[in-house]
Amino acid sequence: MPPVPALSRSHDVVSVNDVRTSRAAVALTFDDGPHPTHTPMLLDILARYNVKATFYVIGQNVRRYPEILHRMVAEGHEVGNHTWTHPTLSRLGNGSFLREIDRTQEIVWRTVGALPATMRPPYGAITSRQSHMLHDQRNIPTIIWSVDPQDWRRPGSSVVADRMVRGAQPGSVILAHDIHGPTIRAIPAAIEGIASRGLGFVTMSQLLGWRQWGPRGLRVVSAPTSSFQRG
Ligand code: ZN
Repeated sequence: MPPVPALSRSHDVVSVNDVRTSRAAVALTFDDGPHPTHTPMLLDILARYNVKATFYVIGQNVRRYPEILHRMVAEGHEVGNHTWTHPTLSRLGNGSFLREIDRTQEIVWRTVGALPATMRPPYGAITSRQSHMLHDQRNIPTIIWSVDPQDWRRPGSSVVADRMVRGAQPGSVILAHDIHGPTIRAIPAAIEGIASRGLGFVTMSQLLGWRQWGPRGLRVVSAPTSSFQRG
């Protein structure tokens, strides 16, 4: 197996909640997947609206559902790092902290041939020192959020959609979780409402003004044994 490469890009971004941009666009982000049934349903919805999103995946879930990760990437979505076991990172020492990140970088690389370019800490819990360490040692910015519909409290689909629409501004980073059925059912109304406010949808890398995230020079093939080949 070839070694996992390091991210070669160098960015000044250490940690962001939203992005100051003149672009009328937001980033829809979904944490905690892939989930075996909810994530594919969400991918169907996003495809119907031609909306690209960013998925902050848990490494252990990637190991269980690699085919869902293949589909995400094949359909133009971005994959970000949401740690290996979803711990409260701010309580971890340096070694454990980096191990949580590195294991997920590695499994995403092994699964789809591309490295997550950003990391979202579970619960938004990360110390400033840890964000700087991640930036300095791994070249990975920490992405928090600016719109939180609190969907994990299960307030109901219409409330979730309404909170997402009302919070959306140019440069917003919108948080949701693709492991809850009501969240998935909220997404059509959320997309339509946000679009009706004149805002488009981009991935996290695009919102940051970077080139589109994804495997370079790779194309998806349908052969059952090999998911990606050099194109
Ligand atoms: Zn999470």
